[in-house]
Amino acid sequence: MAEPTSLLLGLEGLEVTAVTRGTDRSRVVDVVTADRRAAHCPQCKVASSSVKGHAVTRPRDIRYGDDPIMLRWTKTRYYCVNPACERRSFTESIPQIPPRRRTTTRLRTQIGRDVGEAARSVSEVAASVGVSWPTAHAAFIEHASKVLSTPKPVRVLGIDETRRGKPRWTRDVDGRRWVRVDPWDTGFVDLSGDQGLLGQVEGRTSKAVTDWLTTQSKQFRTEITHVVIDPSAAYAAAVTTELLANATLVVDHFHLIKLANDAVTGVRRRVTFDAHGRRGRKQDPEWANRRRLLTARERLSDRSFAKMWNALIDNDPTSEILTAYIAKEELRALLACAREDADDSEVRRRLYRFYTWCAEANIPELTRLAATIETWWPAILAFVHTGLTNARTEGYNRLVKQVKRVACGFRNTENSRRRIRFHCTRAQRANNQQFHC
Ligand SMILES: [Zn+2]
Repeated sequence: MAEPTSLLLGLEGLEVTAVTRGTDRSRVVDVVTADRRAAHCPQCKVASSSVKGHAVTRPRDIRYGDDPIMLRWTKTRYYCVNPACERRSFTESIPQIPPRRRTTTRLRTQIGRDVGEAARSVSEVAASVGVSWPTAHAAFIEHASKVLSTPKPVRVLGIDETRRGKPRWTRDVDGRRWVRVDPWDTGFVDLSGDQGLLGQVEGRTSKAVTDWLTTQSKQFRTEITHVVIDPSAAYAAAVTTELLANATLVVDHFHLIKLANDAVTGVRRRVTFDAHGRRGRKQDPEWANRRRLLTARERLSDRSFAKMWNALIDNDPTSEILTAYIAKEELRALLACAREDADDSEVRRRLYRFYTWCAEANIPELTRLAATIETWWPAILAFVHTGLTNARTEGYNRLVKQVKRVACGFRNTENSRRRIRFHCTRAQRANNQQFHC
C-alpha cells in the first residue's frame, strides 16, 4: 500500500506511511525517509545506524491538485560513528529537502519559475503557495542564479553606461562633507550571441569594469575578439589592459555622432550669444533651425534643408553654424563607410576631408571634435571595418527601465539588478517578452 502513495507523492527519498484529511481541504501526509544515503554523516560520509532520536518537521510542498498538502516528516537523528569525525550527530536529509530547509526543492523550483518565467510578483506567488516573502524571494534567487550562472564565452562584448535615477548628495564617511553620488551603472552585453545582459556593476570607472572582468573565467576573457564601448577613457583604459589580450577596441558610432551634434549645438549657442548678447530665442532663425541642424541630411526634405541653409546664410554672418553643420555631416559620411563597405582608400579620403574641413574652419568646437576623433581613430577604424555597435545595448537600457517600473518590492539594488538581468537574458531568447506585476 505504501508504494503507490509514495509514487503519487513523487518526492524521491520519502515513503508515505499515512494520509489523513484535515478539517479544511488539506491533507496531512506522514512520511519517513526511504533513502539509505540519508543515514550517512554529511561531513565524513560514513553510514550510521546509531539512532539518537527522532524529530518531526513540516516542510512546505507543492499543492496536490487544488488542495494543499501538509507533509509531516519524521526524521531520524543519528550519532556519527566515525571517531575521527568532528561531527557528533546529524539529522537525515535528502536532496528534495536539504538540511535546514522548510520547503521542498520542487516547491522552490515552482516559485522560481512563477516569479521568473511568468514574471509574477514575489508577494503574489508567496501568497498563492503559502510561504513568506523572504522564502519566495530566496527561491527566485536560487532559480535565477541557476539560469544566469556564469556567462558563457562571448566573441563581442558590449560595455555601456546606464543612469540609475537622479544624482544624490550624501555625507561622506566622517560626515563632514557632502559627496555627490552619481548613480551610474555599467552593463555588459553579449553582442554576438544570445545571452543578453551578462552583468551589471555599480559605477562607470575603469575599476568597475576590470573588477567585473576579473571575476570572469580566463577562457571568457581570452575568447573576446572585440569590445564595443562608449568613447569613455575609463572604459578604454580597462579594456586595453592585459586582461583582454585578444580584444580589439571598437567605439560606438552613435556616441561619436552625438559628440558632433554637441559641437554643432555649442557653436550655435556661442554664435547666438555673440550676435545678440543673450541666449537663443524663438524668433532667432538659428534657434528655429536647431533641430534641422542635428538631423541627418538624408532625413531632411530638400525644402526643409534649403530653408535651414538659406536662413543660416542670411542670418549668421560668421557662417560658423553652417561650417559646424558641414563638419558633422563629413563625420557622418566617414562613419557611413561601415555601412557602405567602403575600401580603405575611400575611408582615408573621407577622413582627410573631415580633418581639413575642421582645420581650415579654425572653430574651437570643431578643433576639439577633430582632436577627439584623432584620439579614438584606431577604435573608430575598427568600427568602420566591423560595423559593430552597442545599439543592442540601448535596447536593454529601455528594458532595464521597463523592468524597474514593474519590479515592485525590489528596493534593494542587488535584487533589482538580478531581476533585470534575468529578464534581459530571457527577452534575448524570446523576443518581445511582456512584463506585468
Ligand atoms: Zn561524521
